[in-house]
Amino acid sequence: MNNRYWSPVVHRLTPYVPGEQPKLANLVKLNTNENPYGPSPRVLEAIQAELSDALRLYPDPNADRLKHAIADYYGITPAQVFTGNGSDEVLAHLFHGLFQHPAPLLFPDITYSFYPVYCGLYGIDYETVPLAADFSLRVADYLRPNGGIIFANPNAPTGCLLPLTDIDWLLQRNRDSVIAIDEAYIDFGGDSAITLVNRYPNLLVTQTLSKSRSLAGLRVGLAVGHPQLIEALERIKNSFNSYPLDRLAIAGAVAAFADRAYFERTCQAVIASRAELVTALTVLGFEVLPSAANFVFARHRHRDAAALATALRQRSVIVRHFRQPRIEQFLRITVGAPEQNAALIAALGQILAENPPCN
Ligand SMILES: *Cc1c(COP(=O)(O)O)cnc(C)c1O
Repeated sequence: MNNRYWSPVVHRLTPYVPGEQPKLANLVKLNTNENPYGPSPRVLEAIQAELSDALRLYPDPNADRLKHAIADYYGITPAQVFTGNGSDEVLAHLFHGLFQHPAPLLFPDITYSFYPVYCGLYGIDYETVPLAADFSLRVADYLRPNGGIIFANPNAPTGCLLPLTDIDWLLQRNRDSVIAIDEAYIDFGGDSAITLVNRYPNLLVTQTLSKSRSLAGLRVGLAVGHPQLIEALERIKNSFNSYPLDRLAIAGAVAAFADRAYFERTCQAVIASRAELVTALTVLGFEVLPSAANFVFARHRHRDAAALATALRQRSVIVRHFRQPRIEQFLRITVGAPEQNAALIAALGQILAENPPCN
């Protein structure tokens, strides 16, 4: 029994299972919502320029340069910005620092599956709130005693967008706990709730550079909110790791916010490909939920989702399938570059043309 050395909490943990990062080359990888386009060339230049003797020195623990870049980009102050090693780390600090209360945390039954994992890690009581039958989120369902509210917008893995007016409506009626909006995908078709942070001291918005800024490998995430909320995150962070962002990450992230033209061009390319992908999937007999993200959530009218995912894998195309109530017949498919999307559609066409398995 090697685990006799474990702290008691470790026995109770159910860790998050990230999407596969296969070691095989030549796969059409549409399973973890990475951006098909590389980062801005200016990001690569900034990282190259940072590769010097200065790496012997610790980075800025407060990543001030990056906080200023983000504040300038959104028209807020650096005191309203927190940065971390990917938004997963920012979310962890948020759960730890702002959601550990006697009343339960609320989030949708279908959402980012890391939320219950953080609750397990930090001993946070939570209740899930069912999405409507069409997978839309009804904010009125959140008007009940709570120690905090979090949802992703657009939601994951559905891609559905909640209008900013609904978030505003909920913020007006829920003043006594933090409402966090996880905007990992907001740049692909929604309006950011960052425009509301000056009006609501209990609103915290998180974002990541992993999706719309093509930097999943660099690990940079951020949160925006009232300075008092940011202070809670800073206190947790400075009790955990003083240097979550290294020198390369800070330099690359600053450059990513500076190159607005590249960012907008690549987001528009993904959005255009998404529309084409939805059309092609619909022709093949899929029902596709309306997506404002860089992925689509689709269910075939006659074919089992797990079987489709397996058949796609045999053809070197990988998509994400969740064995979870309500969504086990859906596939979550990242919007790839046009040639990747074409390969996916061709593979699906072949699979669907074969006789259905007789069971
Ligand atoms: C991808 C994703 C994240 C995590 O992003 P990182 O910055 O790469 O840690 C957070 N929330 C949602 C909903 C995501 O899809």
